[in-house]
Amino acid sequence: MKQRNKNSISIETKISQALHFFDKQTGAVVPSIEHSATYSRDKNYQNIKDYWYRRDGNSTTVLAEEIISELESAKKSLLFSSGMSACTAVLEALLPESHIIAPTVMYHGVLQQIKDFEKKKRLRVNYYPAGNLEELKEVVRFGETKLIWVETPNNPNWEVTDIAKVAEISNSAGAMLITDCTATPPPMTRALSLGADISFHSATKYLNGHSDITAGVLSINHNNNLYEKLLEIRKLQGTVLNSNDAWLLIRGMRTLFLRIERSSSNAMQIAKYFKNHRLVEKVIYTGLSDHPGHQISKVQTCGQFGGMISIIVKGNEKTAIDVARYCEIFYPATSLGGVESLIEHRKTVSGENFPVNERLLRLSIGIEEPIDLINDLEQALARAAKV
Ligand code: PLP
Repeated sequence: MKQRNKNSISIETKISQALHFFDKQTGAVVPSIEHSATYSRDKNYQNIKDYWYRRDGNSTTVLAEEIISELESAKKSLLFSSGMSACTAVLEALLPESHIIAPTVMYHGVLQQIKDFEKKKRLRVNYYPAGNLEELKEVVRFGETKLIWVETPNNPNWEVTDIAKVAEISNSAGAMLITDCTATPPPMTRALSLGADISFHSATKYLNGHSDITAGVLSINHNNNLYEKLLEIRKLQGTVLNSNDAWLLIRGMRTLFLRIERSSSNAMQIAKYFKNHRLVEKVIYTGLSDHPGHQISKVQTCGQFGGMISIIVKGNEKTAIDVARYCEIFYPATSLGGVESLIEHRKTVSGENFPVNERLLRLSIGIEEPIDLINDLEQALARAAKV
């Protein structure tokens, strides 16, 4: 148990109570969903809140943003209709032909979007191998680079990038640092405290945790005009998170701490079990002590390692696809961070041109009983290998 401190309330308590929400008029302890698409002005023809039309926001979405700001120790958070629309807003906020740096392997959708901006000459991009700070430093142009993109741990190889060290580089280069820690959200990674300028998460994943919305969030604690710029882009593109999905996100976040704990503990048991398995060539999990990023992870993700594992099976591409399709408890589906476990053949999902091992299966470990997941993978591996 944590030490009793009379003057502060734990983050776990604040988040589980949605910041001790209650409706002042009714006493309801759960917020309502605000459906209005427009807002009436007061008798002096003034707006009552910061929003006066649905594309500006609504009180349900604002509450979800406040909860995320609390989790991130951010001044402001902005919720979008998907992770992709949040990432795209950041790229849109850069001046034409800005120079940016991104990993060669990362979530394939964001990488595709960055490459698309590059192809249209909207941005100039250099790439670095995820986690490799020496190569990252070589492509930074001091005084010219505007943005460094870090995804840690990255999809689907789970290389770890030291956020605090990249923040030193981005500060000296005069660039902004954006982190995508979707696979290890707060309470694990607290990217802004480690020096990131923008902390991005696909809230579709762990923050929501129930695979029933898409959402993306950008959190910042600057005083510059970045927030206003991103708000304007969200408004003009019409990509604010709607109130129904914001409500589901609030509902999901109340159990975030419990879900992260259970997924992390399940994943650790599964990773250890399959580490020396006769049908598995390699288990990639940041929680294993022989993972190259384990020591950084231990500090950066506060002693928990999350629920994301990749395994490279013995055999060939067909063996890997067979394992995914023979699973009966794992769903053979994309996405991650939900209460239910998922398995996917990453090459099928990320496309032919994406550099990923054709025998790699990405597992998102949920909150089920771990022995059921182990038994399921055992039978699927044996059936695929015909042993
Ligand atoms: N970043 C990462 C690491 C992701 O895994 C995803 C989605 O899988 C995204 C960004 C994009 O988010 P969304 O699917 O919510 O648009």
